[in-house]
Amino acid sequence: MRIRAALEVPTEAGKVTRSTLRSNISSIAAKIQAPGPYGWTTMKNCIFCKIVAGKGPASVVYEDKTIMALMTIAPANPGHVLVITKKHFLALASMEEKMGMYLFKITTRVADAIRKSGLRCEGINLFLADGEPQQEILHLHMHVIPRFQRDGFRIPADHGSRPSREELDKTADEIRRAYQWLWKPEEHVAKV
Ligand SMILES: [Zn+2]
Repeated sequence: MRIRAALEVPTEAGKVTRSTLRSNISSIAAKIQAPGPYGWTTMKNCIFCKIVAGKGPASVVYEDKTIMALMTIAPANPGHVLVITKKHFLALASMEEKMGMYLFKITTRVADAIRKSGLRCEGINLFLADGEPQQEILHLHMHVIPRFQRDGFRIPADHGSRPSREELDKTADEIRRAYQWLWKPEEHVAKV
């Protein structure tokens, strides 16, 4: 399933519109999803969709009509919560921006609740994995992980590389180009 191909920005900016990009993502998602509960699309064998449908056990911290926060069965530290959307999204880009904002709002609240719960928590790490590589569950989820001194939590990534400023500028330029193609500056003005 070439999800990444649909997410690629064309070489000549403007060739594909944002709505085409979204519809590409939706059509790919539709091929691997079956109709789910409440009219939502559901990936077959997705544990989160099963939990949302009430067909799997979960220790729920918070729930409303679009979001659920629950304990992970494999916590990095005690109090490790997952915040999930009830709708099955494969990637951030397939999610409406409003939904992403709401996901972060509830994540912020859950983080605050963990800090004030009495559990050991001197800090919080957030982690959201988007896309295919080595993910066990392709249903977008935010990890909210309480941290404390010498908790042993590590992300085993190589942070040893030190690219030159030229390389950083070149990479920034590639991302900036895609950003400007996706989001015209006037569309990105925060409304608060
Ligand atoms: Zn799912």
